[in-house]
Amino acid sequence: MIDLHSHTDYSDGALSPAELLELARREGLDAFSITDHDTLAGYDLLATPEERQPEVIRGIEVTCDLNGRPAHLLGYFLRGDPGESFRRWLELRHEQRRERNRRLVRRLQSLGASVELEEVEALGKSMTGRPHFARVLVSKGYVDSYEEAFHRYIGEHGAAYVPPEAPSLAEGIARVNEAGGVSSLAHPIRLGPAFNEQALGSLARAGLRALEVFHSDHSIEDSSRYLEMARRHDLAVTGGSDFHGPIKPRVRLGGERVENWVLDSLRERFG
Ligand code: AMP
Ligand code: FE
Ligand code: FE
Ligand code: ZN
Repeated sequence: MIDLHSHTDYSDGALSPAELLELARREGLDAFSITDHDTLAGYDLLATPEERQPEVIRGIEVTCDLNGRPAHLLGYFLRGDPGESFRRWLELRHEQRRERNRRLVRRLQSLGASVELEEVEALGKSMTGRPHFARVLVSKGYVDSYEEAFHRYIGEHGAAYVPPEAPSLAEGIARVNEAGGVSSLAHPIRLGPAFNEQALGSLARAGLRALEVFHSDHSIEDSSRYLEMARRHDLAVTGGSDFHGPIKPRVRLGGERVENWVLDSLRERFG
């Protein structure tokens, strides 16, 4: 069993990379991937040349833009380091995030929630995003829960919402592919009606290599529909839980029970 989608506290997960590895071992996984949002730092921390069980796959989840809406792109680097140029491109993502975070702070302050950029960034080890804002809003008593923070303030319909500045999905796909990675469109269910046969066709023409068929937001019916779509467009398949730790208690590491053939066939095609 494998899990190709999980987050550490280098993005918005709760566990450190070492704790995540330990959990993966306890769950009996053969392999799992760290796919932090816009950063490779969690994987880098773990990486040592020694053989390890479970195997850790270097991954990333980059926030991109599809027709004005956020779309998440996974990248798996089966052959090793993505290289300097990709890492520099990630630095640009961080600068864009920083600018957006400044705007979020200003909006929150204008709504009477006194939040400083420094205290939010202090929670983010490698990247700082809305989940960290949510935690500050809770700890300062402006809201009672993480969910309420999104609902009232920073979610898409919240009063302080600032959309992410993100590269197009086509650019993300090109960057991941150029870096020798396997690009995979994450949790297509979250794209809503914007995701259909035609959209997937044009992403495949843009170089998309895989589709995340198995995910904790997908029902069994969703997954079989996505599996068919992936096959029709000759895309590889990826899957994982999108584990974040106790912040999202419903989602367990390894909970999607993704079978090893998924990784084996990625290796066959792209390894
Ligand atoms: P960001 O990349 O800064 O826009 O933050 C996106 C992250 O915030 C997602 O990956 C989720 O973990 C979290 N998130 C977004 N919307 C919600 C929501 N409505 N409730 C809880 N968490 C959310
Ligand atoms: Fe997340
Ligand atoms: Fe995601
Ligand atoms: Zn994720």
